[in-house]
Amino acid sequence: MNDATPLKSGSLSSGAATVIGHSACPHDCPSTCALEVELLADNRIGRVRGDAANSYTAGVICAKVARYAERIHHPGRLLKPLIRAGAKGEGQWKEASFEAALDLIAENFDRAEAAHGSETVWLNHYAGTMGLVQRDGIHRLRHAKRYSNQFDSFCTNLSWTGFTMGTGALRGPDPREMAKSDCVVIWGTNAVSTQVNVMTHAIRARKERGAKIAVIDIYDTPTMKQADIRILLKPGTDGAFACAVMHVLFREGLADRDYLDRYSDDPAGLESHLRDRTPEWAEAICGVPVTEIEAFARLVGTTKRTFFRLGYGFTRQRNGAVNMHAALSLAVVTGCYQYEGGGAFHSNSDIFRLDKSLLEGRKYYDPGLRWLDQSRIGRVLTGEAEALNGGPPVTAMLVQNTNPANVAPEQRKVVEGLRREDLFVAVHEQFMTDTAQLADVVLPATMFLEHDDIYRGGGHQHIMLGPKLVDAPEGPMPNHHVFEELGKRLGVSESDGFGLTERQHIDHMLQKGGLGDFESFREEKWADMQPDFETAHFLKGFAHKDGKFRFQPDWTGTPAANRPPKRMGPQGPVERLPEFPDHVDLIESADADHPFRLATSPSRSFLNSTFAETASSQSKEVRPDLMMHPDDAAMLGIADGERVRLGNMRGEVSMHARLDAGQRRGVVIHEGLWPNSAFEDGEGINTLTGADSCAPYGGTAFHDTRVWVRKV
Ligand code: SF4
Repeated sequence: MNDATPLKSGSLSSGAATVIGHSACPHDCPSTCALEVELLADNRIGRVRGDAANSYTAGVICAKVARYAERIHHPGRLLKPLIRAGAKGEGQWKEASFEAALDLIAENFDRAEAAHGSETVWLNHYAGTMGLVQRDGIHRLRHAKRYSNQFDSFCTNLSWTGFTMGTGALRGPDPREMAKSDCVVIWGTNAVSTQVNVMTHAIRARKERGAKIAVIDIYDTPTMKQADIRILLKPGTDGAFACAVMHVLFREGLADRDYLDRYSDDPAGLESHLRDRTPEWAEAICGVPVTEIEAFARLVGTTKRTFFRLGYGFTRQRNGAVNMHAALSLAVVTGCYQYEGGGAFHSNSDIFRLDKSLLEGRKYYDPGLRWLDQSRIGRVLTGEAEALNGGPPVTAMLVQNTNPANVAPEQRKVVEGLRREDLFVAVHEQFMTDTAQLADVVLPATMFLEHDDIYRGGGHQHIMLGPKLVDAPEGPMPNHHVFEELGKRLGVSESDGFGLTERQHIDHMLQKGGLGDFESFREEKWADMQPDFETAHFLKGFAHKDGKFRFQPDWTGTPAANRPPKRMGPQGPVERLPEFPDHVDLIESADADHPFRLATSPSRSFLNSTFAETASSQSKEVRPDLMMHPDDAAMLGIADGERVRLGNMRGEVSMHARLDAGQRRGVVIHEGLWPNSAFEDGEGINTLTGADSCAPYGGTAFHDTRVWVRKV
C-alpha cells in the first residue's frame, strides 16, 4: 500500500481495525461516485462503499463496483506482456518483459511510419477509465508524433449536440436539486442500472415532498418499474412526444409566456409550428396514447418545480440531437428553470476548469492531420477511402481503454480489419478482451486503485481525486508509463508534457485552475464546482450571445464540445434537420424484411464491456437474450427461452428469447454488453449495429437498428 494515502480507521464487526482509502469510480458512468475502499493486508481490498460525506454520491454506489475485489483480484487478470506466437486470434502467445514488448511496439510504429508517414499510426483509445491522466495523456504521444487524430463519436455526440443547440452550454441546475423537486422526469436513462445516484435524489424528493417520478423510455426498465408515471415510447420518437406535450401546454395556457418572451428566441414561431403537432399526431408516431400525453403535459405544466433529467439514451438514435433539443425545449416552455428543483440537466461537462494542454501535448496538436472516426473503425481498418479521410491506410495501432472488437458498430468489419496481416496491433488491457485476442502484443494494465488520477463528474459537479491505494501485482503498468516509455523509444520524450509523473500532471492542472494540488485534494477528497443558482439555471441568460434559448437551432453553426473538426465538416443528412423542435424520421425504420427495431441497451451488471469478466455479473445477467413482446413472439411461434436468430444487412446473431410485454410491439431489446464469445457463433450484438454518421456532429446510433427475428 502506498504510505502517502489518506486513511481513516473504521472497524469490522469482529472488532479488528479496518483501514479505509478514498477514491473515485473511474468507469464510464456519469455518477463518478466517491468511494470508500477497505484496504486489507497484502495489497488486497475488501468491500467498496459510497462515501456518505459526498453530497452527490450520498453513500450509494452500484452493486458491481461494491464487489470490486472480485475484479481487481480476478484470477484471469492479465499479468504478463504477451507476444503473438501463432496466427492472429489463434490464442498462441509467448511471454515477454514489459521492456521488450514496448521495444517491439516502437519498432513497428517506426517501421509503419517510414513506409506510410506518421498518420498511418492510430492510437485508438476511449473511456475505459475516465481518469484524465491515464485516459487523455495518450494525446501527448499522438500530437508529438503527428499520428492520426481521432474523432470521438461513440457516446455523447447526439445528446450533447442537441442540448448545446438550445442552451449554448453543457451545464444546468445542480443535480442535487432533484431532491427539492415536486416532479422528477427521468427521460432516456435507466438510472437504476446505470447511474444510481439519480434515483437517490429523486426518491428523496418523493419521500420528503411527495414528488412524482415520471420515467420516459423505450422499455420497462428497472427505473420505469419505480416510476409513478410511465411513458413508453417507440424508439427514436421522443421528439414527437415532446412536441405534442408542448402543443398541449400552449393550447391549455400552461406555457410560461412571460418567461419565454424574456429568455427564448422565437416563442411565437414555436407555438405556430406546434399547432398541428397534436397528441393525435404524436400517438401515431410514438405510440403513447393521447390521454397519457395530455396528462403528462398537465403534470409538468402545473408543477413548477419539475426537474428534467435527460440521459444518454438520446444519443443512441440517428435523430437523437433533434430529440434531445425537443425534450429540452419542453422544459423551457414550462418555465421550470426559474425555480429551485426545476430545469433540465444532462451533463455538467462545461463547468470544470482543468487545463489539460500540457497533459495532452496541445502545443503539438495539428487539426490538419488526418482524423479517424472511432465509430467507423471497421471501415477504417478495411480500407474504405471515405473513412480513411484522405490519409494512408492504418498499419499500426495502440488500443487503450477500449475494446472495439466488441463495442464498435459493424463488428464484422472491425474484426476483419483487426485480422489484417499488414496491421500491427498492440493492446494495453486488464483482461483478454475480444480486441486483445486479435492483437500482436498485449500489455497488462493497472486498475484505478493501483495508480494516481483525477476525475470530473459529468453527472454532478465534483472534481475528485483517485490516488493510488494499493500496489499492483507484478506485471501490469499504468497507461501513463506506456506513454512515457513509448515517448522515449519514439524520440519525443523531450517534448513538453513528457517526463512528469502522474502527480505532477495533477498538480499542474489543479494549480492552473486555482484549485489547490494533489496534496490538498488528498485532504479534501474533492472540490465542488457547482456554479451559483442564477448561472446554473440560466437566469442571467442562456449561453448564446444574445442570452436566448434557441427553439430555432443553428444546426451547423453552433460551437459544441464534440463538434467535428473543420477537416471533417458537419456529419450526416444535415439538410433534413428541422427548423423547430420536431419528429424527424431519420431512424433506421422497420420495413417488410426487417419488421423489428432493436435497441442494445446497457445491462445492470456490465458497464459497456467492463465487468463481463466477473462471475457475479455473468451469473446475474445469465445469458445473452432478446426481450420480445409476447404477441410478437406468438406470431413467430417463439416460446419463452427458445433460441432465436436475428439479423439484418450487416450480419446475424443467435440468443434466447425472453418474453416481456414491457415494450411496444415491434421493439426488441438486448441488454449487454456480452463478450462476443458468449454468443453461439462468436459474433456479438454489434454485428448488427450501423456506423453511418449522424447529423449534425456525428455519433453512433447503437439503439437504432432494424432486424428480422426467426425461431431457430
Ligand atoms: S454508479 Fe457508476 S460511478 Fe457509481 S460506482 Fe457504479 S459505475 Fe461507478
